[in-house]
Amino acid sequence: MTPDYAQPSKTGVIEVQHIDTLIQALTRRGYEVVGPTICEGAIVYDRVGAAKDLPAGWTDEQDGGTYRLKPRADNALFGYAVGPHSWKKYLHPPAVRLWRAERAANGFSILPEKQEPPKFAFLGVRACELNGIRIQDKVFLEGPHTDPTYSSRRANVFIVAVNCGQAGGTCFCASMNTGPRAESGYDLALTEIVDKERHRFVVEIGTERGAEILADVPHELAGESDRETAERIVAETAEHMGRTMDTAGIKELLYGSYEHPRWEQVAQRCLTCANCTMVCPTCFCSTVEDVTDLTGEHAERWRKWDSCFTTDFSYIHGGSVRASAKSRYRQWMTHKLATWIDQFGSSGCVGCGRCITWCPVGIDITEEVRAIRNSSPDGTSESSGRSGHD
Ligand code: SF4
Ligand code: SF4
Repeated sequence: MTPDYAQPSKTGVIEVQHIDTLIQALTRRGYEVVGPTICEGAIVYDRVGAAKDLPAGWTDEQDGGTYRLKPRADNALFGYAVGPHSWKKYLHPPAVRLWRAERAANGFSILPEKQEPPKFAFLGVRACELNGIRIQDKVFLEGPHTDPTYSSRRANVFIVAVNCGQAGGTCFCASMNTGPRAESGYDLALTEIVDKERHRFVVEIGTERGAEILADVPHELAGESDRETAERIVAETAEHMGRTMDTAGIKELLYGSYEHPRWEQVAQRCLTCANCTMVCPTCFCSTVEDVTDLTGEHAERWRKWDSCFTTDFSYIHGGSVRASAKSRYRQWMTHKLATWIDQFGSSGCVGCGRCITWCPVGIDITEEVRAIRNSSPDGTSESSGRSGHD
């Protein structure tokens, strides 16, 4: 069932020491709290048992093909943008066993998977990521066939959103109307305020169960000054996006550019490594693999993430439909920004910037759109091209 995206109603203030209380309140109610942690030089999503697991005092520097952690001047818990992980690894896991089979006297018998779905609380969900989840809700829950794995995991999720206090170097959610403020789709939403006197969080309640959890956490009603500060922080973030994308008429632009020479140019750099699709919070393609053990007594069927950048993905009766890097990059970008609109009623891109940061050669979707927009379909320049940093 599609979750109820209730509008926020009340605002309160939580002091930083009570983020631990919030985590404990969620844990007491049976949630497995997952949130940002530092691992191998990146901020990734993992189990969070206490506030000490959060990346206090760290931020990230991001650009095309570049990601670095660096210390902040303060102890902010959520003072970074987004890392290589997205929440889809919990809702649409990278590998799911669909069923097992065992040899029987006359053939084989199927052992269906019957696992209790986990009950996650996501801590630190950004506005772009809420929109990414909403897009995957459409794909997995609102079509003619509901995905049972996604559906059972999604139904239990408690979401603590965090409004962004700074934009990453590759962020462009403001262009995509997906951030940096969490508008709906959360149970609680935090805005972190760190100043000389206090380190606190303005908290908005999005659902009744959000209000129930907040009742277990010491807080006070937010005053006008705190509410204004929170609004200002988010407004300033919106003004400092690392990237921008002009989305006006983008569907028609890309539908009219199938033969544009820019696809060949980007293909000369693209390694077809599929990183951009793995890190993307909305990409959902998968493949199915059957495996057996050496005894021949057991077989299993697994669903695994796949990508439109692999040749196998479009392999049908003797060949790959998209054999060239050019056709695969064009398929990916045109699907994200144009055909997705016809298929699901919205863009498939939420402007999180992950595909730019984690592309090993720094290919930048905003720069590719700009290059196509600023030149005619035969590739001649129509207006001055700009870099991807304006
Ligand atoms: S665009 Fe970049 S990340 Fe995506 S497949 Fe090509 S090289 Fe890999
Ligand atoms: S296409 Fe790139 S910027 Fe857009 S949602 Fe996917 S990873 Fe983020």
